[in-house]
Amino acid sequence: MAVAPAGVAFGSVSGERIENVSRRGKYAVMRLSSGRSLVTSLRMTGRLVVAGPGTVDFPGTHVVLHFTDGSRLGFADVRTFGRMRLVEPGEPWDQGLGIEPLSSGFTQDAFLSMLSGRTTPIKVFLLDQRRIAGIGNIYACEALWEALIKPSRPAQALNKPAVRRLHHAVVDVLGRAIDMRGTSVDDYVDADGLRGGFQNALSVYGRLGEPCVRCGKPVLRTVLAQRGTWWCKNCQR
Ligand SMILES: [Zn+2]
Repeated sequence: MAVAPAGVAFGSVSGERIENVSRRGKYAVMRLSSGRSLVTSLRMTGRLVVAGPGTVDFPGTHVVLHFTDGSRLGFADVRTFGRMRLVEPGEPWDQGLGIEPLSSGFTQDAFLSMLSGRTTPIKVFLLDQRRIAGIGNIYACEALWEALIKPSRPAQALNKPAVRRLHHAVVDVLGRAIDMRGTSVDDYVDADGLRGGFQNALSVYGRLGEPCVRCGKPVLRTVLAQRGTWWCKNCQR
């Protein structure tokens, strides 16, 4: 369906069709019929929700795309950290982003060579969108727990078996989270306005003081690069 004249924001996308929706790193990419793209980052509390005619927008809605069938797509963000940008065809908006962890290029060997010579704590490395694009704080904590790796270990100090375990864990955690339609520890909802399910499958994130589901020792919380980091001192080395 086409985008009807909106009159509010993004008036210049009137008449466009959304041809395709994809993801790059933490960005949702809506490719328009003109070849331009609407690129959205939800950040902490952003929501992209499709609503039927006659329904009320979410609080904090900043952008509304009206479609010819009366439905609309709202971009809401109460804390306003999120961003929506109209990108011209060929504009290299994602050139600062690293490899996609679910792409065929993200192999164990590629991961191993990315880590070599890096003294950064492995968790900080995982969160660096310029290296690997799309791993957030929740998934970094979960993957390191699954791989039995201490979050503060220097990236270059991981031996081959540890890199193999972490590679597997990153792909596994992201895959399971996608299957469960994301993690709603906070406000996150999908395009249908539904909460995800992965918050019910978290092993370590946000579980300070609770017994580690693997060994029973209490989960710790430290801070690495200003981000809360949950981990098990007994399991993760
Ligand atoms: Zn443990």
